[in-house]
Amino acid sequence: MVIKPKIRGFICTNAHPVGCAASVQQQIDYVKSQGDVPNTAKNVLVLGCSTGYGLASRIVSAFGGGAKTLGVCFEKEPTERKTGTAGWYNTAGFHAKAKEAGLYAKTLNGDAFSKEMKQQVIDTLKADMGKVDLVIYSLASPRRTDPETGEVYKSTLKPVGQAYTTKTYDTDKDKVHDISLEPASEEEIQNTIKVMGGEDWELWLDALDQADLLADNCKTTAYTYVGKELTWPIYGQATIGKAKEDLDRAAAAIVKSKASKNVQAYVSSLKALVTQASSAIPVMPLYISLIYKVMKEEGTHQGCIEQIYDLFNEKLNQAKPTVDENGRLYMNGKETNDATQAKIKALWDQVTQENFHELSDYAGYHHEFLKLFGFDLESVDYEAEVDTLAGW
Ligand code: NAD
Repeated sequence: MVIKPKIRGFICTNAHPVGCAASVQQQIDYVKSQGDVPNTAKNVLVLGCSTGYGLASRIVSAFGGGAKTLGVCFEKEPTERKTGTAGWYNTAGFHAKAKEAGLYAKTLNGDAFSKEMKQQVIDTLKADMGKVDLVIYSLASPRRTDPETGEVYKSTLKPVGQAYTTKTYDTDKDKVHDISLEPASEEEIQNTIKVMGGEDWELWLDALDQADLLADNCKTTAYTYVGKELTWPIYGQATIGKAKEDLDRAAAAIVKSKASKNVQAYVSSLKALVTQASSAIPVMPLYISLIYKVMKEEGTHQGCIEQIYDLFNEKLNQAKPTVDENGRLYMNGKETNDATQAKIKALWDQVTQENFHELSDYAGYHHEFLKLFGFDLESVDYEAEVDTLAGW
């Protein structure tokens, strides 16, 4: 099959296996070029391992620290007629490289929120790896089935308290326009917390603890985005922000309930960048196109792999990492400092349909977006026939 991107709205509905493998290779090459990360955990569980920040965490653990990794993701496998999802092919690419390097890697594909997946992970750890010393929680999902009641909860992306009108960029129609978002109801806020808050993170740690699979001094982290004034109304102080606040509660609860093992639980605050999750959030494509412009000019631009390498190296792997005033591992200072935000705000105020491509780095955004699905990589021949049935 020859594969060209099929973009529908904010998503690309197909993926290129060779391109995804090349993108994983680029991330591995970056880690190797930086050198090993000292004190990396050796037995790592990555929940949400196939794309974005979770994939980067797996790559840094394995190729920056020689860790055995067990990953969990929710991806579609290929069929004769349809390609698999990007996360499927990223995982295939990761497995091929881990095997070459003699690194243990296993990936379980299914619903991480379910009891069945927790049991599969426990069985796999018992059979192959033993206790884990790092658990990465990097799930991004629009819905969650409650494992006790079977009820399905959906998250919403809405402001809290009052309606909000702001600029956005429609990537599908190439249009800058205003959007107005009505405030979320209390039920929508609670449902979003149920999906993206800390409850499932706690359930994972409880399940691993009950199966005696947490090593003493085990660390765990979940990822958040905090941002600043431009994104607060739709992110930080909106429904998703409320869910992310619940991660802080969960981190404290994990530390308390697992004190006998000295488990350290952190929320890590990371920068905004293009992933499948962020491209679905209104305002984010516009905001990210502007921060790419400003941060590339400042020489501070980073992608997932650079952020996660620095997170492990500078914070997570330290015996006593420095935390911000909220107890989080804060990695987002280069985006949220006042000087950089002022430049972004100035561009934001000026941006119109006419000058959008000139003021922003949408070309950079779009390239990163295509790359998420294995497209637009220089090293890949997109006219060549490829075997889409690759797996691991
Ligand atoms: P992503 O969409 O790239 O990755 C999500 C991962 O979760 C994938 O591996 C997917 O397979 C997995 N997943 C989703 N539902 C699942 C389920 N039910 N069972 C098993 N696996 C499932 O997302 P991302 O942007 O890397 O986000 C990861 C975390 O980082 C999120 O908590 C997000 O809020 C946070 N974060 C993202 C940004 C950003 O700008 N992208 C910034 C800061 C923090």
